[in-house]
Amino acid sequence: MSTADGSRATRLARGEPRAVATPSASPSKILPVTGRYPDPRYRPAMNFSELQVVAGQVARATGREIRWRLELGKNPGPLVMIRGGLDDCTIAIHPVAARKVPPNTWAFLFGHEFAHLVANLGTQSQTNPSNELKADIAGARYAMAAGYRLEAFLGWVLTERNQSSDSHGTLHGRVQAIAARFGVRQNVIRAEAQRYSGKT
Ligand SMILES: [Zn+2]
Repeated sequence: MSTADGSRATRLARGEPRAVATPSASPSKILPVTGRYPDPRYRPAMNFSELQVVAGQVARATGREIRWRLELGKNPGPLVMIRGGLDDCTIAIHPVAARKVPPNTWAFLFGHEFAHLVANLGTQSQTNPSNELKADIAGARYAMAAGYRLEAFLGWVLTERNQSSDSHGTLHGRVQAIAARFGVRQNVIRAEAQRYSGKT
């Protein structure tokens, strides 16, 4: 996935806090997703409201009461990041990715971010590869409980550049660890990755 500035803003991680634009969507504009739109794995989000619906589904699946807001972040900037606590948190998403990344993928990205708060896995600079994997796994459980598909998400991640950092480890290494944890077979993930590659 390329962003408007030509860089690939595809971190599963949070970045530094930054100022964000306020989205125009309001709760009254939220549209129901179920059964009305094409498969959320293989198309971009229809609009910002759909992403709010997805975030709400995943937030409910945590089993915790979370007061959250979704907003568009800066470009260039991280794919997704969260700040605040369970009683008042804000998820900022990359404005170009918001229009390009499938809702199924967002469900897992939101799940990861919520997991950081629900499981107290550290924020910003306090995170580490062990906590990131814990957030990946807990977040995947939330997204799956909300009805989203893990193998498709992992395939999507494999089409992204294999970024590495001291705080997060390698992106593709995380895919393998998540797949092992949930028993997802490599050929299934590769087939999904090929499907995503064919569309870009
Ligand atoms: Zn994280």
